[in-house]
Amino acid sequence: MNIPLSKRLFVTRYPAGCATNAELLSAMQTFETVIVLIAYRRFPHALTSCASALESLLQGSSIGAAKKDGLQILVRKATTKSSAVGAFAPDEMNDLRELRNQIVHRGFSPQDDGPSVDLLISTGIPFMELCLREFHHYELLGNLLPEVEKHIQVAQQVHQLAKTVAGGRMSHCLDSLSYLVRLRFAEGNLPGWEDIAQHGEATGNRLERVERAKQQLELAGEVTWPLTCAVCGEPDCAMVELGFDGAKPSRLQPMAMTCADCGFSAGPAQPFMTEVLTTDQVKAAEPLIRQEYGL
Ligand SMILES: [Zn+2]
Repeated sequence: MNIPLSKRLFVTRYPAGCATNAELLSAMQTFETVIVLIAYRRFPHALTSCASALESLLQGSSIGAAKKDGLQILVRKATTKSSAVGAFAPDEMNDLRELRNQIVHRGFSPQDDGPSVDLLISTGIPFMELCLREFHHYELLGNLLPEVEKHIQVAQQVHQLAKTVAGGRMSHCLDSLSYLVRLRFAEGNLPGWEDIAQHGEATGNRLERVERAKQQLELAGEVTWPLTCAVCGEPDCAMVELGFDGAKPSRLQPMAMTCADCGFSAGPAQPFMTEVLTTDQVKAAEPLIRQEYGL
């Protein structure tokens, strides 16, 4: 049986088995929908969809699944077929399943955003990656649009740092991925989605608008520096506000950023996001920044 593939969004190549394995195809399509839900910040439903993608994926894997098996039994069967899957944190899989059940039965509130983002990044996406690797010899990271992949990794890094802070907030970890996908949808810059593009802005108008925004952002901060925007990719558009690290007074610390072009911004309400997105560029530009500001 050959299954016709629908329009792909964020995955550049599906696993070869999708041509004949309907459950595997469904898992990949549902994973792409997870990213659409992340883009529109429907994090609890992104988590429930991720759990559905995992169910389909395991139903479509050679683990001896029965049609009526739910996620709990499927995971248990999968752990007996692969030692790497067996070693994957079982408590976190239980947390994911329990939160999924709660959201499905009682709906969700803004309080569910943080735990949903936490479980998507720490458990849902890595477990999907692992099962695709173990049961279908397919690498999820490596077959996504490069900028989508980059911002999944940004989310993982921000999450890793946010975890080190007691009671740390999590709901912002996917902010750059979410903004990027909304931006690309609006521009029509995703394969096959050109039809929903907004009308492009004339180049002259854009340059003038960006320059005006840069000047305003420059006046707003004490030490600001233009960098390439890690979200839209435009050079010299992300105005980064720099402070001095308390522990190492000589070190310039990225505090907040706003892109004068695409409008993405991050600040103290999104701990570690500016740091992860700009540290490498700030380090490279540090001698020039010091010279310019006489630091
Ligand atoms: Zn930008």
